[in-house]
Amino acid sequence: MRPRLTPFARHIARVLACAPGLWSLTAMALPPHMPVPGGVAVLTLAPATQPAPAASLRGRPLAVVQSSGQWHALIGLSLDTPPGRQEITVDERRHLTFTVVAKAYPIQKLQIREQNKVTPDAEELARIAAEREITERLKLTFRSVEPDTNFSLPAAGPLSSRFGLRRIFNGLPRAPHAGLDVRAQAGAPVTAPASGIVINVGDYFFNGNTVFVDHGSGLITAYMHLSRTTVREGERVTRGQALGAVGATGRATGPHLHWAVFLNGTAVDPELFLAK
Ligand SMILES: [Zn+2]
Repeated sequence: MRPRLTPFARHIARVLACAPGLWSLTAMALPPHMPVPGGVAVLTLAPATQPAPAASLRGRPLAVVQSSGQWHALIGLSLDTPPGRQEITVDERRHLTFTVVAKAYPIQKLQIREQNKVTPDAEELARIAAEREITERLKLTFRSVEPDTNFSLPAAGPLSSRFGLRRIFNGLPRAPHAGLDVRAQAGAPVTAPASGIVINVGDYFFNGNTVFVDHGSGLITAYMHLSRTTVREGERVTRGQALGAVGATGRATGPHLHWAVFLNGTAVDPELFLAK
């Protein structure tokens, strides 16, 4: 038996039927509202019939995107965000609050053959500090373009290490896993998950050969440990376009893609952006 439509549902169906453009608005997939450390909070700001509001978190601009006839703010929450209330500012006058809830990520123990990748010497520490300055700046890139938040997986293969694992390298606690690992053979293609602009191609101590892509509004992705890179800084890329190939450069136990997603300057779980 066909379910009967309520008058409201019938109205919506009629509106969509005579305005095909609305389908694309409705279909724009946002990450799910996941207000946990390393997650993304999605807050509704205003109807899409109004101009896009500006939203910020502690002075940092936030991505504001349109979906289902509304403007939404996407708020990246760092892995060290404490549970409790957070507040964003909308159009410099309105405040919206939401609550961050705790999440316990599992522990992962790893053995690295090169001990200097676990306990770097003074020269290497200086290089690491200089590189961190560069990557911090890249993560804070904000281009006022509404991003495509519906990502495809940038390499074909099983998801190995998930985001947020609390890591112990050769018995020593180190920073948590701030990306998603895809296991693949060395040389397998790494592709852009959505359109964007390449903002950096570099060789980093921990991350090896790396490509950063800016998708707009502070949504930045990075591809690490690549065996080679095939794009240049400033190049525009589209979904599915090759960025380079899987490798094991930098601090890696074997060939895999480490994929990082940053939002308002902070690493968040890439799986939240994968098309369902
Ligand atoms: Zn990784």
